[in-house]
Formats: sequence, C-alpha cells, structure tokens
Amino acid sequence: MSATPAPPAPPPVPGDYLARLNPEQRAAVETLEGPLLVLAGAGTGKTRVLTTRFAHILLTGRAQPHQVLAVTFTNKAAREMRARVAAIIQRPVEGLWLGTFHALAARMLRRHAELVGLRSDFTILDPDDQSRLLKQVMEAAGVDLKRWPVNNMMGIIQRWKDRGLPPGRIPAAETSDYANNRAEALYAAYQARLAALNAADFGDLLLHMTEILRGHADVLERWQRLFRYILVDEYQDTNLVQYMWLRLLAQHADPAQRNICCVGDDDQSIYSWRGAEIENILRFEKDFPGARIVRLESNYRSTRPILAAASGLIARNEGRLGKTLRPGRADSQGGEKIRIVSLWDSEEEARMVGARIEAASRAGQDLGEVAILVRAGFQTRAFEERLIAIGIPYRVFGGAKFYERQEIRDAVAYFRAMVNPADDLAFERIVNTPKRGLGDTAIATLHRAAREQGVPLAIAARGLVGTDALRPKPRAALRELLEGLDRWRAGLEHEGHVVVAAQLLEESGYTAMWQQDRSPEAAGRLDNLKELLRALGEFATMAAFLEHIALVMENDEAAEGARVSLMTLHAAKGLEFDMVFLPGWEEGLFPSQRSLDEGGAKALEEERRLAYVGITRARRHCIISHAANRRIYGNWTSTIPSRFLDELPEAEVVREGETRTPAMPHSVFAAGPLGSRPRLIEAGAWEVTARPARAGALQVGQRVFHQKFGYGRIIAVEDDRLDIDFEKAGSKRVLDRFVEPA
Ligand code: ATP
Ligand code: MG
Repeated sequence: MSATPAPPAPPPVPGDYLARLNPEQRAAVETLEGPLLVLAGAGTGKTRVLTTRFAHILLTGRAQPHQVLAVTFTNKAAREMRARVAAIIQRPVEGLWLGTFHALAARMLRRHAELVGLRSDFTILDPDDQSRLLKQVMEAAGVDLKRWPVNNMMGIIQRWKDRGLPPGRIPAAETSDYANNRAEALYAAYQARLAALNAADFGDLLLHMTEILRGHADVLERWQRLFRYILVDEYQDTNLVQYMWLRLLAQHADPAQRNICCVGDDDQSIYSWRGAEIENILRFEKDFPGARIVRLESNYRSTRPILAAASGLIARNEGRLGKTLRPGRADSQGGEKIRIVSLWDSEEEARMVGARIEAASRAGQDLGEVAILVRAGFQTRAFEERLIAIGIPYRVFGGAKFYERQEIRDAVAYFRAMVNPADDLAFERIVNTPKRGLGDTAIATLHRAAREQGVPLAIAARGLVGTDALRPKPRAALRELLEGLDRWRAGLEHEGHVVVAAQLLEESGYTAMWQQDRSPEAAGRLDNLKELLRALGEFATMAAFLEHIALVMENDEAAEGARVSLMTLHAAKGLEFDMVFLPGWEEGLFPSQRSLDEGGAKALEEERRLAYVGITRARRHCIISHAANRRIYGNWTSTIPSRFLDELPEAEVVREGETRTPAMPHSVFAAGPLGSRPRLIEAGAWEVTARPARAGALQVGQRVFHQKFGYGRIIAVEDDRLDIDFEKAGSKRVLDRFVEPA
C-alpha cells in the first residue's frame, strides 16, 4: 500500500466489450467518477455491469489492478468475476482486492492486527472453536448453561458484531437481559479471551477493521487513497457493519474521488436473518450526496412468461422501491409458460423431476444448466436418491450431499453399530456422541482392551463394564449405551425398523443434542433427521437401507463433467440456469412456517422475495411443483399448496396434474416416540382426520377452533383456505375443514 503513482498511459482497448452493453448499462460502466447506485431487477445485467466496469477501469488506465476493491457475495462469484475480467482484458490479473467481505477484511486486518491487540498471524476460529471458547468463558463466569445456552449467547454476540458494536458501546436499546443482564460483560470477556489467544472469529474481521478505520485517521486515509474504485455486488444484502466498512473506505476527503459503485435489487434481499439491512440501499443517496442512480430495465436472462410471472408475484409485496422490468432477450417474446405441477406425494414429485431431467438430457440439454432449488436443506434427499437411481450426475452446492451431512453420518453410524456389533468405525463415531462423559482416557482404555483381546470395540466394551478399569461415570455411560444397542437390536426383530430408528435417536440422546443446540443450523439438522426416518420408511428392512446408503456413497465418486445443481434458494442468488425446478411449494414449507412464526408479515415478504429469486434464476424453463401428501414417520399427512402458487399471474402458468383431495391419514405402523405426538411438522402438514369441506361460510374476524392449533381469529378467507391468527400457534394458513366456529 503506497501513495498512488500517476496512472500509466491507457493501453489499447481490446475487444468490443462496451458494445455488448445497452445504453443504460454502458452509462453505468462509463460513469466512473462519483458514487453510483445501480438499482435494478433480476437478470438486468448488474453483475455484468460490475465486471465490465472493473475491466474498463483497468483498460483505460484509471487504476492498477490492486487499486480496485471489489466485493462479491460468495467465493464462487469472486472466481467468476476474476475470470470474466481476465477475459475482457485478455490477460490474467493478479493482486486483485476481489472477494467476499470476510476475505477482504481478513486480508486488511493482517496488516493492522497490532492496532486491536492481535499479531498479523492471528487465527480465524471456525464456529465450533468459537462455541467452545465462549463456553469456557461462560463457565468461568459461573453462568448456568442449562438456563442460558451457549449458542444463544453466541447469537447475541454475532448480532452485535453484525451491527458494528464492540463491547462497551452497546446502546441501551440493543442490550440484552440474557443471563441476568450479563451479556455485555460476557461479550467483553469473550473478546479478551480471543485477544489472549491471538484469534478472531468471523464477525471480528469486519468489526475490528471498522474500529481501526474509525480510530486511526492515517490508516483510513491510506486505504482511501489506495482504493480508487470500489465495486459492490448484491448490495441489498449487506449488514450494518459491512455497510460501515464500505462507507468509511469510500468517504474520501475529496468528494470527487468517492468512486463507489453498488449494484443491488431490493426485491432480492433475502438475508435479513443474517443481519442484512435493506435500508442500506435506501440510504445511499443520503450518504453520498450527488450520487447517481442508474436503473436497468431490460432483463436478458429469462423469457417473457418467466419474467411476467416473477414480476406478478413480487408485486404483492408492499414496501418496494418499485422497478420496471421488461424482457430484453432477442427471443424473449416466445417462451414456454411456467409449469405448476401438482403431485400426489413427495416421491412422485422426485420421480417427476427426475423424468423431466432425463428427457431434457436425451433431447440435448446440458445438465450443467439444470438446477433444483429447494427452500430447506432436507428436501435435497428425495431428489438425490432419484438422480442416483436413474444415473444422472449431480452436485449439491452450499452444503454437503444429504448422506454426507454430519447428523446423517452420525445417525447412520448408530444404525450400523446396532445392526453390526463388529463395526468399529461406526461404534467409535457414536460412543461419545452425544457427549456422555467418555473422555480420551476411557476411549484409550477401550481401544487397548480391544487390541489385547483381538475383538471388536463393542465386544471389548462389554467386558470392560464388568471391571473397574473405567471410572464409575464413564463405565455407567458405556453400559447404558451397550444396553441401548442390545435393546434396539432386539427391537428390530418384532417392531418396525422405522420405529426402532426413531426410538434409538431419541433414547440415545442424539436428537436431544441438536434440540438443545441453538446454532442456526440446528433446526435444519433436526429436519434432516426426520427426513432420514422418511427415507428409512422406503425400505423393507434396516439392512436393505444400510446397503442402499453404501451404494449411494460409492456412486458419489463417479461422474465427471456436467452435473445437475442442487441447492437452496438462498445459495442460488446471482446464478442462472436454462432449466429450474422449484419443488415443495406447500404452505409451511414454502413459505416456511418457521420463518413466519419468527418474523410475521415481514418474513412473508422475505419468503416472497425468495420465490422471486427462485423463478428469476430460470432462462427458459421453470417448473414449480407441490405434493399433496408427505410422509412423516410413516404417517401420510396432507398439505396445502403454497399461497405463492395462487399469486402467480394465471396467464403465465400452465397447471398440470390433478390436485386430489387430501389423503385420509392412515398409520403405516404404530407411531414411535418421535412420531407419537400429533404435531405440526415443517411441511405444514398435520396428522388429523380431514372432514369434508364445510358448507356454512366462515367469516373474517370470527373466532374459531382448529384441531391442532387451538383457538384463533380468522384474518382472511380465500376459497377453502383460511388465514388465522392463532392465540398460541401464531398465524397460519389452514384448510377450512379443519376448523369449527368457537
Ligand atoms: P441478478 O439480479 O440475478 O444477480 P444481474 O442483474 O446481476 O442478475 P447478470 O447476471 O449480470 O444480471 O446478467 C443476466 C444475464 O444477462 C447474463 O447471462 C448476462 O450475460 C446477460 N446480459 C446482461 N446484459 C446483457 C446485454 N446487454 N446483452 C445481452 N446479454 C446480457
Ligand atoms: Mg448479479
């Protein structure tokens, strides 16, 4: 980092990159001086503008590659941008400040670490280490961890960090009464421990950097001089601390040098649950007086029907900035309508998607241009199985494949250890998961005994619990585990394997481990475990299931070349595909009941934005589906189609498949402990007997009783669907036949 030398003479401009832009895009690329906000809908070329602008800056000699700061949302996006810039300027580019907020902040922080009491070789802790450290801090402070779980405190700290608040500066409005008003003191103690360990957590990277820039005018000025241009993609999803960091860097003393260009779309803001603040976009003009706003209105990605459907849907949201979006593709006038496919159950849905991909592939469709985008991680399982069965290669982005996920591997290890006492690998994985007090010493003793006797670990363990080689606590824990394994194994003889599996997960304490976990991933893991039980239900025996998994895992290693992409809607931001499948559009699943419970009407709008993001990923084919029935622990339960399906403009969709009346639920087997409670599950389904549609009308405002959710008041009526504000269960959409006047 040094004072900027005079820019070199512009090199010759290769290619016709500017000619590949429309006039508005071109204006956005060529307006290089002063703050600029590109506010535009999906697929209008925001990212293309940013990339071209980057190349243009370099090609016209306005800055050296290291003098441009470019922020993207994912590392994948950063790689793509680097490749595209290199393609335009026709040479590889090195030394770029191009990456995610975290990556860039970490790199800067290494140069100034001493200013926040760290050395430049500080360690960045992963979430596991963070929790462990915080737990130590809380234990040392005598906090009752049963009452005040570590992960809740972690969440509070993260929120403060996302809002740029170091300990000692938490405003009264943002304090927390956690652990009897000790949250801020614990935060301070945690930060002190991090400093002592020469470590930073993810949130620290930006927090420390903004603190440094704020507190050290000389440092700030050097960075401001270095970065002649700042480029930011997906600006609508920045959180407060990211925003502060950007603003500091961009507030050059000379207003003529405030060359920051942000591109974003308020309709695609989908990360408020991670602290993103849409207001950052609205504040842009205020923070940067004289800012130019460019609007792009031609969408080059999707055909007209896809665009019209997405626009019609998002128009239902209030609180939008409002943008025009029109088809810009040469072939945009034709185009196939969005397909809404109604299916009988989730298995049929997976078959439908598989069959269509197969047919498309036979017709020459590049599989790399096909995506299945889901609302919740657990949904990938059914599609993965189907794709494997029909031999279509796929990749799961932004997360592990279903059977590779930690909780699934753990659960499967339990199943293996139950079926096969000689399976040492499985036994070792589960012997102290969840933690049952079998520490390193106990495990070492166990291994030694197994080696000496030449028997599997589980057998050696059996011998050990009869001796005093282990201390009483680990001995009791081990005995309990062995007894459990025997009991479950015996259960397989006379009870259904799904029932036994559910019992096992409950009685071993494995489910409880994730229930007590307050990290944002825990709920998804519990969903995955339920999905695993559903998968089990598709096999006649536990052994058949385990064999299937072994084959599935092997299959993973195969296949090079183009693959179908599976990912969540959140991970699909900024991407595009020829053919997009959007399955599981059912109330409860999408919109997600969990989000609605937590965030109410605001959350519904965010869910709708997520639907908009999903549809606008598609270039030519968009297939949305919903299943009328989902299997929950072997019980079939009925669902109702997502309200978003009704919100799509009828002229742009074709509906396929009949929506049959919900199945009368029937028990496939006696419900196990997990399934014994009739309860709302994530898919928005319930296990109750459906009555025929009611004759007498129910009215808005009327107080009613619902079999599962109790008392509530009707907020809206639409055909046979009711939006009800339940006194206990919050607001939900239900079928009228489950409701009676109170
Ligand atoms: P999102 O909001 O989803 O991030 P975006 O606004 O960033 O979308 P891009 O991904 O930059 O849009 O562009 C969408 C597609 O349109 C890309 O395939 C891009 O190459 C193409 N495109 C953009 N501008 C033009 C243009 N002027 N002419 C032809 N194609 C274009
Ligand atoms: Mg983009």
